[in-house]
Amino acid sequence: MTDAQVGAPLPDMPDDFSSVLVIVAHPDDPEYGIGSAVAAWTRAGKRVGYLLASRGEAGIEGLDPAESAIVRTKEQEAACREVGVTSLVFLDEPDGRILATPQLRTKIAHEIRRFRPELVVLLNFQPTRGGRFFNSADHRNLGQAAVDGVADAGNEWIVPGARYDGVARIVEFGAEPTHRIDVTDGVEAAVASLTCHREYLAALSDEPVEEQARAQIDSTLTHEDGRAYLGFRVYG
Ligand SMILES: [Zn+2]
Repeated sequence: MTDAQVGAPLPDMPDDFSSVLVIVAHPDDPEYGIGSAVAAWTRAGKRVGYLLASRGEAGIEGLDPAESAIVRTKEQEAACREVGVTSLVFLDEPDGRILATPQLRTKIAHEIRRFRPELVVLLNFQPTRGGRFFNSADHRNLGQAAVDGVADAGNEWIVPGARYDGVARIVEFGAEPTHRIDVTDGVEAAVASLTCHREYLAALSDEPVEEQARAQIDSTLTHEDGRAYLGFRVYG
């Protein structure tokens, strides 16, 4: 928890959008916190899609990447069902070697034009997590490629095709938050969604997967008057 969350409540993020694209590097990246907002949004009738750069094939120690990719794809599909996400796209970039290349920006721009989100949600792509831990190269590079891909989608000369400049706002989860979202209606679905990454979580800890998932989701929330809130850094 950050100082900003301990002090006065953050302002509420405007709820003026109907479509959301979550763009992240790996399976489980949306489930470590963003999922509670996603579940609240889909329950409220918003359209939410996930765009994943990789299949997380290098993520399970002792499990061959070819096999891991299959396991993690299935776990991600199940995680999506729990929070009402019906569009799941993998770009098949190499896990652990994601670079913010013009080619990746172009792929992201095409998906932005196809899905036409008003809000784009990213995972922390700053150099560190809270100034205490170094962020992964994939998270840094993918976040930067996504920001640039949103801009590229709006230019028919950089990426040939019909331009789309309807992204009104980009938000980042896991960086110093500026706003909050009431996610009370999405918390249980978020726990269920993270629990779907069963093999991945089981390889990380001996603690039962359900308990790991609930502890992780709880650690992301603040509470006020019986409501649960998730913080985001809002750009735009
Ligand atoms: Zn990740």
